Amino acid sequence: TDPSATPASGGDVRLTGISKTYGSFTAVQPLDLYVPAGSFFALLGASGCGKTTTLRMIAGLEEPTSGIVRLADEDITALPPHKRPVNTVFQSYALFPHLDIFENVAFGLRRRGVKSVKKQVEEMLELVQLGDFARRRPQQLSGGQQQRVAVARALINHPRVLLLDEPLGALDLKLRRQMQLELKRIQTEVGITFIHVTHDQEEAMTMADTVAVMNGGRVEQRGAPADLYENPGTTFVANFLGTSNLIEAEITDKSGGDLVLAAAGGKLSLPADRCSAPVRTGGKLLVGVRPEKITLTHAEDAGTIPDGRNRITGRIADSSFIGVSTQYLITTPDCPEITVYEQNIERDARLVPGAEVVLHWNPAHTFGLDATQDID
Ligand code: ATP
Repeated sequence: TDPSATPASGGDVRLTGISKTYGSFTAVQPLDLYVPAGSFFALLGASGCGKTTTLRMIAGLEEPTSGIVRLADEDITALPPHKRPVNTVFQSYALFPHLDIFENVAFGLRRRGVKSVKKQVEEMLELVQLGDFARRRPQQLSGGQQQRVAVARALINHPRVLLLDEPLGALDLKLRRQMQLELKRIQTEVGITFIHVTHDQEEAMTMADTVAVMNGGRVEQRGAPADLYENPGTTFVANFLGTSNLIEAEITDKSGGDLVLAAAGGKLSLPADRCSAPVRTGGKLLVGVRPEKITLTHAEDAGTIPDGRNRITGRIADSSFIGVSTQYLITTPDCPEITVYEQNIERDARLVPGAEVVLHWNPAHTFGLDATQDID
């Protein structure tokens, strides 16, 4: 029977102690990673962190130095790429220029000797919304359309896992955004496991239900995008995903549910369960808060600020209108410059440079990090 006739379900991928060294250079440190079946999973990290190497080990294009790759509980470490129920979409698309779109998509079926390909190819072209383009050549399509052909060509083999290596890297920003939503729709429709490699945090957060942040050949943290953003566990993750304000602090009281910290010339509180640093009285840590969680109140109106909020005083150094919000840079006596985003404010209500302000936020939006880590 033709395996391509039955749609495959997503398989889960489990990497155990996977590593890769090139000579004396370690590209991927031994890592364990679990990718649930049917998830849209992103490997996110800066250039050179080892994400492509990890993906290529799942594809079978790179032999791990150590460790085991399992797909749906089966050890596939020794299987060659074409024997794995896995397909890869590359940034370069790698379409055949001399074949039209229909034949590009049909290629995998024809190679396996499938006789009647028409229905399947047409279905696939519909899925990627290229039904009207079947007889065009790749060079007659836009970058985004070519990318969708590459996805259709990979999906027609009914892989259980689709690997995407920076698939949107060659597209301009607007098209990238469209294709992010498009790929997400396709993944939801076909229901198989997608593993997506990107260095773009916004892209990973838009598309993936789970993100693993890689740094220096290791996975620093994995989780749902909102959890990583709200509660980063390391300074690298805090800085790589969005903008963070990190303030040096010392624990002065750990007896309550909230830790009391001496920071920024005053007192801040931090829920104990949002602190990934070791907790001891007198211990140092970095306390973080995201720019959009902070509210600014003119110092004259400080009496209107509700009790129980964390507060720091400062002075506006710069304000710039960036469309959806206004970005303020604020200098404070005892900490580095703090960034604040405020949305929906009237033009004449904006605070001007020089203004004395109180920065305040809900302590629940504070996170605590180990101060002994390097700040990347
Ligand atoms: P990018 O986004 O730039 O592709 P990446 O995170 O995907 O980065 P990898 O391609 O996985 O990174 O590479 C990780 C490290 O391993 C890099 O420092 C790279 O130079 C090195 N590396 C990759 N392939 C080889 C190879 N064949 N021989 C030697 N070093 C390699």
